[in-house]
Amino acid sequence: MMREEKIDQSVKNIRTNLELVNKRIVEAAEKAGRDPDEVKLIAVTKMMPVEVINAAIEVGIRRFGENYAEQAAEKIDIVGKGVDIEWHMIGHIQSRKAETVSRYFDMVHSLDRIKIARYLDRYAKEQNRVMPVLIEVNVSGEASKYGWDASDESSWPKLADQFRQICAYQNIEVRGLMTMPPLFDDPEDSRPVYRKLRRLQQFLKEVVSESDWKELSIGTSFDYPVAVEEGATMVRIGTEIFGSRPAV
Ligand SMILES: *Cc1c(COP(=O)(O)O)cnc(C)c1O
Repeated sequence: MMREEKIDQSVKNIRTNLELVNKRIVEAAEKAGRDPDEVKLIAVTKMMPVEVINAAIEVGIRRFGENYAEQAAEKIDIVGKGVDIEWHMIGHIQSRKAETVSRYFDMVHSLDRIKIARYLDRYAKEQNRVMPVLIEVNVSGEASKYGWDASDESSWPKLADQFRQICAYQNIEVRGLMTMPPLFDDPEDSRPVYRKLRRLQQFLKEVVSESDWKELSIGTSFDYPVAVEEGATMVRIGTEIFGSRPAV
């Protein structure tokens, strides 16, 4: 295929896929008695070229999720920050990339340790801004996952103390929680993980009043209808919209 045709094709595919995803979000929200407008779609474009991002913008997508700070920065420089386009950092952040994250992103979902909170706060201050963040927790206890270990409920008061410290930083603003469930075969298996996350959210609402803990960033292509039923306010979807990612 010629390059032009290929891009046309991908605009068409993205539009069709997006319509289906939106439909499933609405259905899941209605099933749970929620307002579908409470759920924001973050289109995950990690490993995807700028052409794909531009095609997504063409079909109306405005919120993008990226995992790798440096690669994202290169793409954002080309695509442009755009007044109505939001860039969400959803991947593990290395200390030395914190400044790039702070300069390029509108929100961080993957705040997974105190040190990064300190860095993001410092750089946001230098840039005269406040960075909205979500705290990443690991509720399943799976060893390979990033984030604060929240698998043992008896540890939640201690976690709350640490999260209170994060809330005290002036130039980051804690908006809620993010988690990645283990890789399951059945999306239904994510449900207990998300229910536990919601219990943690409820707990934090009661004991850490410095944040409203409103946002829950849960759900990927694999399980987003379940996540929406269980209270997601943000779903992070790549494959279902863009197809499988190019191999590294
Ligand atoms: C890649 C990624 C996603 C999207 O995954 P898909 O299966 O492509 O929808 C969501 N969240 C995080 C943290 C990711 O790294």
